[in-house]
Amino acid sequence: MLEFLFVAALMASSAHLEDPHKQAPAQHEAAKAEQAKPAKVEKKHGSVAVPEEAPAEKTKAVPKTTKKPGSAAAPEEEAPEKAKPAAAPRPASKPKAAAVKPEEAKRLAEAEARASRLMAENARLQEALAKKDLTAPIEIKNPLAALTELKAGNLRFVEGRRVRTLLTSQDSALRETLAKGQAPFAVIITCSDSRLMDNFIFDQELGRLFTIREAGNCPDTQGVASVEYAVEHLGSKLVVVLGHTACGAVTAVAQANGKPLPGNLWSLQAAMAGLLETTHEDPNESAAEHLRHLEKNNAVRQAQAVLDRSEIVRHLVGTGKVQVLPAVYDLASGQVSFLELPKASKGEEKAHH
Ligand SMILES: [Zn+2]
Repeated sequence: MLEFLFVAALMASSAHLEDPHKQAPAQHEAAKAEQAKPAKVEKKHGSVAVPEEAPAEKTKAVPKTTKKPGSAAAPEEEAPEKAKPAAAPRPASKPKAAAVKPEEAKRLAEAEARASRLMAENARLQEALAKKDLTAPIEIKNPLAALTELKAGNLRFVEGRRVRTLLTSQDSALRETLAKGQAPFAVIITCSDSRLMDNFIFDQELGRLFTIREAGNCPDTQGVASVEYAVEHLGSKLVVVLGHTACGAVTAVAQANGKPLPGNLWSLQAAMAGLLETTHEDPNESAAEHLRHLEKNNAVRQAQAVLDRSEIVRHLVGTGKVQVLPAVYDLASGQVSFLELPKASKGEEKAHH
């Protein structure tokens, strides 16, 4: 129940992320602007940076005036004193704020109040989750709940507010529990690239994600078998094929352009056969933009390939117990953009592996 509330609060505060394609550039701009602003506030422990434009402001659960016994949530009035202004030409302290223009002072005061509220909320969430027993059975019962949890975890990661992967005090008890069995709610098929790690990206502790990693996020037969094991025997509800920006495997296959790559690398070309031909090339796009399209298309095609190659997965998807989704991870922003499988192509591309 606590976990549900936690997720609900985060989701309520993250409505703007529902369409990652539209929001990604705006967020990036906001992040850049954030770096230049003096009102940036940092929390000492855990170095939690609070983005000024973060949406948690709307969350109704933010405690404003009361402090429950044992709660770490700081009341709004106290938070600014605990906040440490980052090194900046014009710190948002009260004496200096009075020296600037009224509208500027107002803006700084608002930013400070907003940052304080976010810090208080983060402290409250950390406190709440610390009290929750991570070793208790998980409550994610369907693909939508699994997707909701992944999106919430990714938002925490993007905003520098990871929680579940920081509760090290529970590591020992969690290991002891998990040694008896596992029930990962999602399967993540992703690239071996060292710059991404699904547990961090989705802020999920041990036992929550069943991971298959290979360069280019192309599951081979054993990879598909691993997916089948997870959805059929472990009860995983969601299968995510997670590509990423600046993928070396996709780049290598694209640059080889059909010429055999050395060593065993030919197998990457085999796994991505048809990718170059099915990715539309726009004469106006840059090489980097085209690579983004290839990475996206590869995630979609590999997700489709899992369905095409697994009767077990297809059956579970058909009954609504499991969902398969492609997605792309942005190395710079940390944001995961979930994509959709083209409905028309379902089951049509059976021969591209
Ligand atoms: Zn890669």
